[in-house]
Amino acid sequence: MCGIAGYFSRNGSWASAQVMLALYAQQHRGQESCGIASTRGTHLVAHKAMGYVKEAFPEEKLKAVSGTASIGHVRYPTRGSSALENTQPYIIETLSGPIYAIASNGDIVNYDEIADELRVKGVHFASNNDGELLGRFIVYYHEREGMEITDAIRLLMKRIKGAYSAVFLAKENLYAFRDLMGFRPMMLGKVGDDIAITSESCAIDILRADETREVNPGEIIVVTPKNEYFLQYNDKPLLADANGKHQVRRHCIFEMIYFARPDSCQFDEYVYGVRNRIGARLASYDDFEADVVVPVPDSANFIALGYANAKRIPFDMGLIRNHYVGRTFIKPDQYVRDESVRQKFNPLRDFFAGKRVVVIDDSIVRGTTIRKLVRMIKGAGATEVHLRIGSPPVKYSCYYGIDTPTREELIANRMDDDEICEYICADSLKYLDRADLASCVARPEDFCFACFDGNYPLPKD
Ligand code: SF4
Repeated sequence: MCGIAGYFSRNGSWASAQVMLALYAQQHRGQESCGIASTRGTHLVAHKAMGYVKEAFPEEKLKAVSGTASIGHVRYPTRGSSALENTQPYIIETLSGPIYAIASNGDIVNYDEIADELRVKGVHFASNNDGELLGRFIVYYHEREGMEITDAIRLLMKRIKGAYSAVFLAKENLYAFRDLMGFRPMMLGKVGDDIAITSESCAIDILRADETREVNPGEIIVVTPKNEYFLQYNDKPLLADANGKHQVRRHCIFEMIYFARPDSCQFDEYVYGVRNRIGARLASYDDFEADVVVPVPDSANFIALGYANAKRIPFDMGLIRNHYVGRTFIKPDQYVRDESVRQKFNPLRDFFAGKRVVVIDDSIVRGTTIRKLVRMIKGAGATEVHLRIGSPPVKYSCYYGIDTPTREELIANRMDDDEICEYICADSLKYLDRADLASCVARPEDFCFACFDGNYPLPKD
């Protein structure tokens, strides 16, 4: 997944401090490592570290990377190991020194093809990460083929297939661009004369932007010390929809279900509103008595509220989450995930005893986390546990920036609903139907649902 931020300061304040605040607000998008790079006009400075933003950037580190424009990144690994060399932003050295840097969110589906092509032209890679590929592509075509940077980004959009929301520093200028389908969210804000770019609107809110809007799919934003301007990859539709009229968009529906913060507004609607509607839809499937509706915190909170309000069953927080453990789904390996579940959730003592409980979660991926939770709730005395899931069964891997496991590891590929219900020890299990999920967003035709239906908008090479 990952989160990005960029800031151009025209009032002498540290852009790095603003980027740090934006990364801090987007820590939920990646907790493995983080970094900030800034321009001082003639060269760049950077600091990267494993772990959380708050620990990585005490004041002296922020000062060490202060500059007029900064970009930053919080990492959740998809391609590449958990190591500092895969931490972004990537700094790209040239004979003139370190004058380029890039931070990106997403995955490239034709990575091998493009990387091999660049290697043949003499380009060397320090990592196997998508962000570096994007940066080296732009720098190659700008430095060696003499293209304007904006033309190199246009060429990138034509050649490189996949999901990317990226910020790029080149000498004293800041660039931002988003893939043609808009898989990952990306926001633009004006803060007085300054310009801010973030993955999610909750981070733009922290920066107190006066005006905000979404960065359009295929848009290129250029911010210089004198002005800013906005270009589009192609004035004509790149891919036609059924009516032949619009560029096809494919926003990630999982952002609305699970990843994004509920206070973010993206793809033109508030995340918490979509989650409320998902809960209400799920509630329409049930016709039974229960004592309490309990979410698996935090991403299922608003889904559970929607369910509880629609069914008029009390909503309560029976599971307490330790916020310092991080998200289990985005932990890089199974052992760490297993340990995290135990450390992360604890049931309120006496809360569940003798109760019929509706437990709401956003999705089931491997099934291991929810199995432990259901057993934990039953062990705490619940007489019935009915599990309701705010999405259809996850049956396909994601190639666009979400680290879903291989198809073999996805429990919905190995078992049917009854078998899963038995495996996780629930009294009943229901998923949200694909069509009902689609009805919870205003323009379902603009979304990717591939991990549920296998209908991939871009084929994997
Ligand atoms: S495959 Fe699933 S997780 Fe990946 S972009 Fe599409 S909806 Fe999102």
